[in-house]
Amino acid sequence: MTHLTRRGLAGSLVAVLALPSLGLPASAHGALLGAEPATHHRIRLGDVEVTTIPDAAVMIDGPWPIVGQDRDKADVEALMRENRLQPNRFKPGFTPIVVNTGREVVLFDTGNGAVGFVPRPAGGRLAALLRPAGFAPEDIDVVVLTHCHTDHIGGLMEGDRRVFPNARYVLGADEYAFWSKNEPLSAPPEDNTYKSALVFRSHLLPLAERTTFLKPGDEVVPGIRAVAAFGHTPGHLAFHVESAGKRLLVWGDCAHHEVASLAHPEWHAVFDMDKQQGIATRKAIYDMAATDDLLVAGYHTSYPSLGYVARQSTGYRWIPLTYQLDP
Ligand SMILES: [Zn+2]
Repeated sequence: MTHLTRRGLAGSLVAVLALPSLGLPASAHGALLGAEPATHHRIRLGDVEVTTIPDAAVMIDGPWPIVGQDRDKADVEALMRENRLQPNRFKPGFTPIVVNTGREVVLFDTGNGAVGFVPRPAGGRLAALLRPAGFAPEDIDVVVLTHCHTDHIGGLMEGDRRVFPNARYVLGADEYAFWSKNEPLSAPPEDNTYKSALVFRSHLLPLAERTTFLKPGDEVVPGIRAVAAFGHTPGHLAFHVESAGKRLLVWGDCAHHEVASLAHPEWHAVFDMDKQQGIATRKAIYDMAATDDLLVAGYHTSYPSLGYVARQSTGYRWIPLTYQLDP
């Protein structure tokens, strides 16, 4: 915890001013230290550990039209201003999760790798950040993929080399069936669908013999089960992680922005392949998270990408995790 505290402090001006009185090294006294990106964040969930790792850190244009594609840009910008956020720039999380059950080390999604939505050096950091988080790539027993967009499967391979040499892979059966067809390759070359279809062929098809295909309700390992979350892609899955009565919902891309997606689940998301199904899934998943008081790991919510969901007068809101799980 000590190093986490120091890292948190070092990023703020308050910490610079307070350094001597805290007994920390004074070498930076009189100079700003600059941002020091987080490497991982770990929590305990029942008898398992959950570690979130930031694969990318980058400001991009949006959230309109990534969220609110069917609305006026001004509506989305107004919502950002109400929440004290920049109106047309945002910093999505790209946050794979490692669940260590003590028996198996399970990785959910693999980040951008060398070929994903956020190219290096801003993205594709997962493999390098595993070791500071206490894992080697060889330690990963199971790689679970929520879906096959480039920012989730790009980290499976480096060139021809499997990044997680001892892993088996788990993916929705409907997702695999869709991306195996030729249809996604008929999308325009600049389209996310076309790019993902290419990365599917280079990064996932070679792993097919090691891959298990799931339907909603199927078990990954004891305590981890698939949940239907179709719409973003044809076979997009969320996952329940349960240990000693504690629950975590890994929801993949059920939100692309923790304010806009949750406040307006009915707003179209530009990367949803089926807009209406995406809306229905967001409403169902948010309702379940709020009703069952679930801890949520949201891949594109702000790092460390853990939080809760509450109902508000219209839609829902995201409550980032702070000390709720501390003893
Ligand atoms: Zn994504």
